Amino acid sequence: SNDYRVVVFGAGGVGKSSLVLMFVRGTFRESYIPTIEDTYRQVISCNKNICTLQITDTTGSHQFPAMQRLNISKGHAFILVYSITSKQSLEELKPIFDVIKEVKGDIEGIPIMLVGNKCDETENREVDNPYGSDQARRWGCGFMETSAKTNVNVKELFQELLNMEKRRPMNFQ
Ligand code: GDP
Ligand code: MG
Repeated sequence: SNDYRVVVFGAGGVGKSSLVLMFVRGTFRESYIPTIEDTYRQVISCNKNICTLQITDTTGSHQFPAMQRLNISKGHAFILVYSITSKQSLEELKPIFDVIKEVKGDIEGIPIMLVGNKCDETENREVDNPYGSDQARRWGCGFMETSAKTNVNVKELFQELLNMEKRRPMNFQ
């Protein structure tokens, strides 16, 4: 099919839904509404054709393992989100990264972005930028700090992820 599937993982409360909603709808809400699991579709251009960018916003680390594996096996690209205000939320991505490696076998060529969200919350920062980028380098994935609240690096995050896909050039502009 012409679907390109992106899966967003990360602990509860780090801003997964906020990032997706800012990207897809350009809106932000202050309230926290835990996600069941939502999929958003966007039409984008791909090799001069149109294709569907399908973004799956997961529940976070409390996902059923079978559900997590299914999302990983169907996913083409992954966004791993932590909050810069919580070192624990970065720790919680490690087992998820391990499952991605295990399910995909070889992650070479699979677009993965490690994302430090809530970069607007400078006064509550627990994870500095070099610490995050160092983790990304060790995992061999891309890295970006974002704010869904102030709309910093949100479009750029999705564009960067698509740029990492070498098998088919894609653009959502
Ligand atoms: P999820 O559980 O990972 O989907 O997190 P949500 O997107 O539901 O966000 C959890 C809480 O963090 C909500 O109250 C959001 O308003 C807030 N939030 C999300 N992104 C940001 C951000 O970039 N900066 C700040 N300051 N708050 C954010
Ligand atoms: Mg959510």
